[in-house]
Amino acid sequence: MENCSIEFNLNIRNQQVQIPIFENLGIELWIKREDEIHKQISGNKFRKLKYNILEAKDLQKKKLVTFGGAYSNHILAVAATGNLHGFETIGVIRGEELALDLETVLKENSTLRNASELGMKFNFIDRESYRNKDSNEFQVYLKKKFGDFYLIPEGGTNQLAIKGCEEILTAEDEKFDYICLAVGTGGTISGIINSVKNHQQVLGFPALKGDFLKKEIQQLISVQNRNWSLVTEYHFGGYGKFNTDLIRFMNEFKEETGILLDPIYTGKMMYGLLDLIKKRTFRKGAKILAIHTGGIQGITGVNRKLIKKNLEVIKV
Ligand SMILES: *Cc1c(COP(=O)(O)O)cnc(C)c1O
Repeated sequence: MENCSIEFNLNIRNQQVQIPIFENLGIELWIKREDEIHKQISGNKFRKLKYNILEAKDLQKKKLVTFGGAYSNHILAVAATGNLHGFETIGVIRGEELALDLETVLKENSTLRNASELGMKFNFIDRESYRNKDSNEFQVYLKKKFGDFYLIPEGGTNQLAIKGCEEILTAEDEKFDYICLAVGTGGTISGIINSVKNHQQVLGFPALKGDFLKKEIQQLISVQNRNWSLVTEYHFGGYGKFNTDLIRFMNEFKEETGILLDPIYTGKMMYGLLDLIKKRTFRKGAKILAIHTGGIQGITGVNRKLIKKNLEVIKV
């Protein structure tokens, strides 16, 4: 079994992005490199797990159970964190068909393979059961199957996760007018909203379709801060969906800035943000901080799909 690297980098830098049009528009864009925290526990997943792990230890739990799709950044992060802290880990994975030929699945899917090498055990379930995973009935099933465990919700979002995400911004970041980030379940943006200053505006870019997120975030945040909004035009067809336009943009961005984005979250956010900047949505002199929430591990899986379709791949 491969052991998880204990190399963490919590000395996070803000990197300025210099693109010619910014100068004309008088815009400053900086990127918070949370993607550099850890190879497998990257970005916001580290933040979201931090206090959950402390809680699981306090409760003397030995086992972590969580949920995710077959390419989930969260699944790999839980596998790696559990490995590091001596927990058994169980990933309840959407898609019962994956269990039919696990050997091939592990060969082809680096997320699940890495998680498996870190000791995670999988429980593959059908999509219908997955949708009902928060029901009492399913909780009973899990208890019966796995005994005593600490449950981490899908995507890791709970109040302890939000507490961890309140630590992303530092005093040095108070000079920014806008904080931009990708949104999945809304846990990370909730921590950001809780921790921004009054003069700061938060812009979330959902990576999925649907307008349920606004309500969910309203229920997750603990402040009555109205300085936030969701930019809902850049989901590229929904969660996990992407097109040639997005991939080409990510490759150009990498070429120009040296920064690798992920196709599920941060690529969409940056595409949207640069589009808004080009459309002169921000006033002259605005200072923008975009958070690179990580997710680089997911590129391998997406590139496999792109190769199969004979399309341009993400250059790493
Ligand atoms: C999980 C994830 C997100 C979404 O975070 P939420 O707290 O679920 O909104 C954003 N970016 C990356 C890279 C992620 O892995």
